[in-house]
Amino acid sequence: MSHTPTTAASLTARAATVIARCRELARITDVPGETTRLFLSPATRDAHTLLSWWFRQAGLEVRTDAVGNLRATRHSPHANAPTLVLFSHIDTVPNAGAFDGPLGVLVSLAAIEQLSATPLPFHIELIAFAEEEGVRFGFPFLSSLAVTGQLTPEHLARTDADGISVSEAITAFGLDPANIPTTCSLPPRTFAALEIHIEQGPILDKSDSALAVVEVIVGQSRLEITFHGHANHAGTTPMSLRSDALAAAAQWIVDVEHYAANYTQLVATVGRITTLPGAVNIVPGTVRATLDVRHPKDESRHAAVAHLLTKAEAAGTLRGVRVHAAVQSEQRAVPMDRDLTHHLRQAAARAGYDANPIFSGAGHDAMILAAAVPTTMLFLRSPGGLSHHPDEDVRPEDVEAALATLVNLLLHLHPRP
Ligand SMILES: [Zn+2]
Repeated sequence: MSHTPTTAASLTARAATVIARCRELARITDVPGETTRLFLSPATRDAHTLLSWWFRQAGLEVRTDAVGNLRATRHSPHANAPTLVLFSHIDTVPNAGAFDGPLGVLVSLAAIEQLSATPLPFHIELIAFAEEEGVRFGFPFLSSLAVTGQLTPEHLARTDADGISVSEAITAFGLDPANIPTTCSLPPRTFAALEIHIEQGPILDKSDSALAVVEVIVGQSRLEITFHGHANHAGTTPMSLRSDALAAAAQWIVDVEHYAANYTQLVATVGRITTLPGAVNIVPGTVRATLDVRHPKDESRHAAVAHLLTKAEAAGTLRGVRVHAAVQSEQRAVPMDRDLTHHLRQAAARAGYDANPIFSGAGHDAMILAAAVPTTMLFLRSPGGLSHHPDEDVRPEDVEAALATLVNLLLHLHPRP
């Protein structure tokens, strides 16, 4: 370690505080007995109260923007200085763990606390995004879309399970959607943005590493594949005269698994199938299957999708089953800013840690912000690769590593001209 024993001791204590705060925040929930905190819910308000208290204790200026993001500012002595944005989200999936989202907010806060009065040549804005997971309105990244000016009237008109629109939820929270353009945008002269997040996968755990820098957030294709065969009597239709849509789909699903397993960095998943008519005594006539394909390189993803569609055709042809594919969504791979990622990796090295580049197989707000400002991410090991689960955890020494890295970055980062 390059830091002094005194600093190390205090970073160890600060890491313990970060974990304790994440656990305390996790007790603020819309559903008693678990951690479920939805966008603009009563629990969000209580989370804001607690976070605001911690932010103000750290000397930060706190406000809530018009989509409910809690924003805390640390001012540079230079009034016209540019701004570094640190961010993560505080909404959760149902029955969540304590760390997906809040950890990034609270490590960032701890780094600011560690800086104490050290003057920096930039302001820091810490943003706790109110919506990332997409649970309440069935659509993710509403917060980061708002801060990058991409939130549309269609987004605001989306409704939750009770028929309440995003606009109405904002109003019910005591905010005014009309103020989104004036209150949500990134600070003027924002020169960089950083999200700290748990990996939510097994790569760091398997390689026994505390940290990684994220090079790219993978692109994703989602398709629906329909296999059209012929439904017929399961007793009277000889095997040689069948067009069994489910048998074709089944063969194809195994092909998908086999192909992705042998293709570097590719993941491909058939997550849902629907069989019609779906009766025990009828040869399946129609099968609808979803296909989710992800890869850090767009060309490789497109090639994989094309190949998997020819495999579906082949499985269908063997049985007289027609195949129809419909693309439902395409998300391009989003590279993180190369310079900023390099600086982050160097900061980790100076603090005594290796943070090798990896890619993120999950989507994050960082991919939305990357369109507006140089952005990168720091990942922490997820013990057991476990996330979106109440047993989701972090190791104290990994939190200390992330904290030491961020403090080091803040002390060495120079705003770009
Ligand atoms: Zn998250």
